[in-house]
Amino acid sequence: MNLEILAKIVEAEASVLPFAGKLGVAQCILDNGNNLSAFAAPADDYSGESMQAVRAVYEQGVRRLPGYQILMFRSFNKYGPDGIPDWEKLVTGPAPIPGDMAYLGKDGMPGSWGHYYFGRRREMKNFRMLVMAGHGRNMDGSYDPGAVGCGYEEATLTRELTQLVKEEADRQGVSCDVAPDRNHYSFFKNGGSYDVTGYKYVLEIHFNASVNPDCAGNGQMTGSMVYIDQSETGHSVEDAILSNLYAIGSKQAWDGVVITQRQYQTGLMVQNHIRAQGVSHAVLETCFISDRDDMNWYQAHKREIARAILAGIRKGFGLDEGWEPYMVHVSIPDLNIRISPTVDAPSVGHTGVGSFTIMEEAIGKVNMKTGAKGLWGRLLSGAGWICLAYTEPIN
Ligand SMILES: [Zn+2]
Repeated sequence: MNLEILAKIVEAEASVLPFAGKLGVAQCILDNGNNLSAFAAPADDYSGESMQAVRAVYEQGVRRLPGYQILMFRSFNKYGPDGIPDWEKLVTGPAPIPGDMAYLGKDGMPGSWGHYYFGRRREMKNFRMLVMAGHGRNMDGSYDPGAVGCGYEEATLTRELTQLVKEEADRQGVSCDVAPDRNHYSFFKNGGSYDVTGYKYVLEIHFNASVNPDCAGNGQMTGSMVYIDQSETGHSVEDAILSNLYAIGSKQAWDGVVITQRQYQTGLMVQNHIRAQGVSHAVLETCFISDRDDMNWYQAHKREIARAILAGIRKGFGLDEGWEPYMVHVSIPDLNIRISPTVDAPSVGHTGVGSFTIMEEAIGKVNMKTGAKGLWGRLLSGAGWICLAYTEPIN
């Protein structure tokens, strides 16, 4: 690439913006595969800062938003002054932001000068996972419901949670596929083969059952556990998943992570097939379908459970290396704190004006009317999530 041309484009797009704004434009050019025609015509000359931003991005691999691809930006001037996005204009205006892009952040100054960034999460390393629901349709057409208890059927719950894990993975930018809807036990038993070598991790979701059901509920959960094959070299991922589940109210069942062969001498059919391909596999026994307290916990926390599973996988596989919590400033007094990262979720209060630490980011709906999507941040306090479009970065 001709760095001088790039510097002149950055100059044309962002001469009045702070250095971060110039970096943002340079990253956007790179993330668009250097399609220069998508940007303003080069200025006649460039400032030292514009060249510095181009060198940082093109020679040193610096990114304004390391975890994301910046695919478009829009000016404060036309799309919302003072850094408050005009969602209506952005989504339904003459140059609408495509529905698969999300608001990622902004750079600018009070008044009209600034850019809103839009784009997508970058894929995390080369990580790809498969999630699989336990039980279901057998090869002979019959149906295996799994365990039944307290008015619930395991095969229904495993499908529900599988879907929630998939949604959460999409929201968090973790590549995740859902296995075909069938009983994989029956599938493999009948000679089926399924190539999973493209995945780093296969998570098979189940619910446990006890020989002594407690469908009245004694106020005590039985809890969550995982089966891994004896051939696995470690269980840091499963420890991370379980500790996250315990943190939102579950408890350790048995030894937490249990080597399958302690319970099933010849292993588990599905697990054996996955392990034979050298791919890591875990059976998550989410909680006990035979325990009313467990089912109440599941019903009240299912989305959090999906998030906790994903967070454990991210931690266990080190997918977030390089990302660190950061602070933002909130200058409006009535910014909602929501229980999950979408404007549809119930509000549990307001931040007030001040500075807040963001522990995690997620993409969700930010505007009810237009359905615009953007980044949300989970607060250190544990109170919930805030829409980052209404915050200012603190550097
Ligand atoms: Zn099961």
